[in-house]
Amino acid sequence: MKLILFGPPGSGKGTQAQLIKERHGIPHISTGDLFRKNISEGTELGKLAQTYMNKGELVPDDVTIKMLKERLQQPDCKDGFLIDGFPRNIPQAEVLDQLTDIDIAILINQTDEVIIPRLSGRRSCPMCGHTTHVDWLEEGKKDICPKCFARLIQRDDDKEEVVKTRLDNYRKLTAPLTGYYEKQHKLKVVNATNDVESTYKLVDKVIRENK
Ligand code: AMP
Repeated sequence: MKLILFGPPGSGKGTQAQLIKERHGIPHISTGDLFRKNISEGTELGKLAQTYMNKGELVPDDVTIKMLKERLQQPDCKDGFLIDGFPRNIPQAEVLDQLTDIDIAILINQTDEVIIPRLSGRRSCPMCGHTTHVDWLEEGKKDICPKCFARLIQRDDDKEEVVKTRLDNYRKLTAPLTGYYEKQHKLKVVNATNDVESTYKLVDKVIRENK
């Protein structure tokens, strides 16, 4: 099966993608994760991507498309895949249509009231990679990683101003994909709940109905 998952930043699509991967055995391709891997390895691609990511902007299409094409050519993708974070605009969707035939595009919907505090309260551990939220951390220990006790940081792209830019870009550039996939009769909308497992039940239903 060839699936796309899209939705506003902070909608929980990354978490849902991880569950689909584990429970359906479909390879999970996240362009955001591919960029972050390049950043941590210090590659030229990573350095370029970081300048855009830190501002909440999209990395240029030519760079992103080349990286995705290379990933789709890996042998694990030959029987299907789940792409999370691509396409992010109509030109990327058109390129993807030239490359392959997607079965369904799942939109994970979430409101701004949930997204903004969720993302701007997110804290990440630079040592062990753990991510958490300030509301879940104990008073007086709000900057300590509960797993490895290193000092937590706020990722540049989780700062409130950057979150707003990411949301604006989502509305302007990515949300039009809804109409694009609707016309192709491939759009499936899931309204995310606050609970990961109940959202997953809705996602899972859509996948099973379209297998
Ligand atoms: P994500 O983890 O999917 O939220 O992606 C993090 C950041 O990576 C985004 O804010 C963009 O700067 C960049 N990015 C990820 N996917 C794409 C894409 N398909 N096109 C352009 N930029 C992307």
